[in-house]
Amino acid sequence: MTRDAEVIVLGAGAAGAAAAFHLSHAGRRVLLLERQSWPRPKACGGGMAASVQRWFPFDLSPAVDRVIRRVRFTWNLEDPVTAELPGEAPFWIVRRQRLDQYLVEQAVAAGCSLESRWSASDVSRHGSLWQVRSDDGRLVRANALVIADGSTSAFSAPLGLGPARPRFATTLAAEVDRTTQTPADEASAHDDDTAHFEFGLVHHGFCWAFPRQRGMSLGVGTFIGRDPADHAAVLERMLPSLGYAATAGERRGAPLRVWDGHHRLHGDGVIAVGDAASLCDPFLAEGLRPALMSGSSGAACLERWLAGDSKALGAYTSQMRADWGESMAWGRRIAQVFYRFPRVGYQLGIKRPTAPQRIAQILSGSMGYGDIAQRVIRRLLLQQG
Ligand SMILES: Cc1cc2nc3c(=O)[nH]c(=O)nc-3n(C[C@H](O)[C@H](O)[C@H](O)COP(=O)(O)OP(=O)(O)OC[C@H]3O[C@@H](n4cnc5c(N)ncnc54)[C@H](O)[C@@H]3O)c2cc1C
Repeated sequence: MTRDAEVIVLGAGAAGAAAAFHLSHAGRRVLLLERQSWPRPKACGGGMAASVQRWFPFDLSPAVDRVIRRVRFTWNLEDPVTAELPGEAPFWIVRRQRLDQYLVEQAVAAGCSLESRWSASDVSRHGSLWQVRSDDGRLVRANALVIADGSTSAFSAPLGLGPARPRFATTLAAEVDRTTQTPADEASAHDDDTAHFEFGLVHHGFCWAFPRQRGMSLGVGTFIGRDPADHAAVLERMLPSLGYAATAGERRGAPLRVWDGHHRLHGDGVIAVGDAASLCDPFLAEGLRPALMSGSSGAACLERWLAGDSKALGAYTSQMRADWGESMAWGRRIAQVFYRFPRVGYQLGIKRPTAPQRIAQILSGSMGYGDIAQRVIRRLLLQQG
């Protein structure tokens, strides 16, 4: 059997593009397969810790839309709490389509081949090669495979990568253009360097509003149960508070696979990265940082495996557990308590003088949930009991 590449990366989102870049940069022959025509739209708030820069040798700033200096929290659009982000740990808002496109451009410049409109329908192992079949009958083969097909992954669970039955958050996102804002509304317009999180309007979740160069990115996420019915109603209350028409913006709903326990993320010559590996934060829906972290770390381990280190893929699973999973285990516990008793959570958690700073540090990547979790959970449970 002939091979078409050393590595096939399935899915050209943030995780797949990061993996494709690093493997190509290391001199591997990489084939990046993407179902949609490229570049593709993607529902995403685009909030991301600037610390992700450390995983890339090129400057990520061309994809950055805004630098966030403050985070604001509200309960039913009132009772605000504001935290200044520490200067050494900034938070970016990226244009998501631009970020993914930029990463793919870097991968292609490093030698990767991109095939868009290539929808994988089947993956299988034949001897020492992985074979991927498209839904129109094309076949490609490689020594190794990176599963990076996102939250609706058809391949990770059947291959035993990540949880067998993934858990999902429900989301609805809207992009609003500044031209839809009336001049009279400018006074109530959102600060251009502030990320806003609203907790009281959403059952079992929160609403976010992130500033963009020419508008805002808003969305609603529900983390316990599936309750998409009132997501549109939440946006209709949130938008006027920011100076936009209640019905402004194009809406996009999407399921989001969230972290749900420590699982094996590797098999024989195969790894799962990003949402396909169920890495997204189950409390604040942060999925970009773990996508870039897993794409980068997975590529480094795969490179060692291709060079003959048979233990390198096991090291990828262990590394993701240490660098991300341990914090998420605490994040999941906080989410389970917070989203069941959100009013108490807001009063006792978010409104504590030190809390906004802690959340800002978690979002910026300078602190993990484990650093705060035991005290937060004890406080919330004591109040309920
Ligand atoms: C509404 C919303 C808002 C969010 N906001 C934020 C935020 O502000 N900050 C943050 O950190 N995270 C956010 N997230 C999470 C973040 O978007 C994801 O965690 C991130 O996109 C994961 O990247 P990925 O590369 O794993 O998956 P994706 O970006 O989904 O990429 C997967 C790619 O695989 C392709 N694909 C799928 N199936 C196939 C196939 N069969 N064959 C070939 N290609 C295939 C898809 O077309 C897609 O391009 C948000 C998510 C949602 C839904």
